[in-house]
Amino acid sequence: MAQALSVLRQQDPAVAEAIANEARRQRDWIELIASENYVSEAVLEAQGSIFTNKYAEGYPGRRYYGGCQYMDVVETLAIERAKQLFGAEFANVQPHSGAQANMAIYLAALKPGDSILGLKLDQGGHLTHGHPLNFSGIYFDVHAYGVDRETELVDYDDLLRVAKQVRPKLITSGASAYPRTIDFARMRAIADEVGALLWADIAHIAGLVAAGLHPSPIPHAHFTTTTTHKTLRGPRGGLILSSAAIAEEYNLNRAVFPGVQGGPLMHVVAAKAVAFGEALQPEWRAYQSRIVDNAKALAQGLVQRGLRLVSGGTDNHLMLIDLSRSEGIEEISGKKAEKALDEAGITVNKNAIPFDPRKPMVTSGIRVGTPAVTSRGFGGVEMERIAEWMAVVLRDIDNADLQAQVAATVREFCAAFPVPGHARYRDEVADDTLPTAPPAAEPIAMPSPT
Ligand SMILES: *Cc1c(COP(=O)(O)O)cnc(C)c1O
Repeated sequence: MAQALSVLRQQDPAVAEAIANEARRQRDWIELIASENYVSEAVLEAQGSIFTNKYAEGYPGRRYYGGCQYMDVVETLAIERAKQLFGAEFANVQPHSGAQANMAIYLAALKPGDSILGLKLDQGGHLTHGHPLNFSGIYFDVHAYGVDRETELVDYDDLLRVAKQVRPKLITSGASAYPRTIDFARMRAIADEVGALLWADIAHIAGLVAAGLHPSPIPHAHFTTTTTHKTLRGPRGGLILSSAAIAEEYNLNRAVFPGVQGGPLMHVVAAKAVAFGEALQPEWRAYQSRIVDNAKALAQGLVQRGLRLVSGGTDNHLMLIDLSRSEGIEEISGKKAEKALDEAGITVNKNAIPFDPRKPMVTSGIRVGTPAVTSRGFGGVEMERIAEWMAVVLRDIDNADLQAQVAATVREFCAAFPVPGHARYRDEVADDTLPTAPPAAEPIAMPSPT
């Protein structure tokens, strides 16, 4: 295979080296960030294509620019495949990201000042569900429901109570850090009872939904949005799904363009078509099943080692570890755990747990997910080893020697599992230099990661 960075190395060595270092990091670290994945070689080829050169404002057959015949081909493929994958009558594949897809729903369904009701942001809700710094929190009247203190499951009675009180125009289901099944049918019944619209944001669980491993919102929700890059394993982007009647009544296409976007990223739309095509293959369902099996195996491994998981376990691809009430672990913050695990070659993110007394940038938990490691071919045996490494590091949190030792073992272990899409970089990263990460800047305070 040709050197993937040969021209770039000549022209812009600083950028080329950053890419090579990221390839090394992806190769040598165990990726447990629940919202991340590795796309296929085919998705990379489509996304890295000359489709990026073309403007294609409008929709297939109705463009504002000439020369769009091949744009129409790939966008139509992406739309038809998305509809088939989710059993939906309507799909819009143009949103640049999950947040853009969500913005289009707000624009289509609401007027500024209307009330929305979503999951509390510190209990798993996403920042586009009403964070004060996000447009959703700035332009709308935000209300929230939560999880039960004991079970840590969505408290649907509380949701109904708040919904009756607030009479929201829109109820949001969906989360970035909820390890259990969401009952869309029950949420629709609540929405109907108070005359609200139901919106399902399935950014995290879309792959599981498409594979039939999580109940689908399509028969229940008025609007469904998702990212395409998490469990769905496509390029970074967004997707909107609905019935044909809702798409027409709320003019969802118009809400995306010209509502919140100009020209679509057609190279990304092409890559979405490829990813949806992959997702329609029979092997893909088996891949999603392995994600869930791996999550269960990892959860069991962690619980057996005394770690407490929020809600006791997981139904999907992710789990939250409560570091404030885990056996054999002196109380540590999510921030400290994230750092120690990173030193040990395991990438996770700190995450608030329900009723977390600590600030969002510190937290008492970490979030762990299996989509990326499953794409890499890890199975039950590997989950057991990861659980052991995590427990060992967390139990002796200040032991830098131990972290270095685990990192070396992890690196060797990872070498047996080539990263999908990385074949093109093999020679570029063969010198084996580990990236030396610059100190991370503190980001602005967010309630929870994506
Ligand atoms: C990740 C995520 C999004 C946003 O996706 P971006 O592509 O990062 O904009 C929206 N909603 C939920 C629930 C998410 O988890």
